Amino acid sequence: MKRVCAWCNTHLGEVTSDIHNEHTITHGICETCLNKMFGSNNIDFVPFLNSLAAPVVLIDDNNTYLSANNLALAVLGKEREKLQQNRTGDIFTCENSHLDGGCGHTDKCGGCQMLKLINDTYEDKDNFDHVPVTLFQKKGEVRHKLELELTTEKVNGLVLMRIDNLK
Ligand SMILES: [Zn+2]
Repeated sequence: MKRVCAWCNTHLGEVTSDIHNEHTITHGICETCLNKMFGSNNIDFVPFLNSLAAPVVLIDDNNTYLSANNLALAVLGKEREKLQQNRTGDIFTCENSHLDGGCGHTDKCGGCQMLKLINDTYEDKDNFDHVPVTLFQKKGEVRHKLELELTTEKVNGLVLMRIDNLK
């Protein structure tokens, strides 16, 4: 079975596993990415995130934005300076993020696929690869259905989340 870093796509050689026999490729973050992310002892994740070839957001505990690369800011239509302390729903302009309580705490958040994915990732339930997620955005009076795929990985207590196939 091949192992490929889900973040930089580096081929990491063959691995043997009894658990994932049905898959031909297993994903996970590689040593090089980990060193780039945490090696410099500072809290600026932007250089690492910008080295990745896809939109990636970094989520802290409590479902709160920590950082993102320029590709993610571009596809989400956000400015870096305005995202501090935002929750995931704010980043994706979810129609429920402005309701009482905010993202994760409104009456509508119970069935949220994105929150479930983030929670499951925190709880180490699995590696999540291209999980389909649908949410509705609201910009002014316009409601827009957003379909995307998310790949997530828990790294040192943070959740890396890659955005694929955004429609
Ligand atoms: Zn890597």
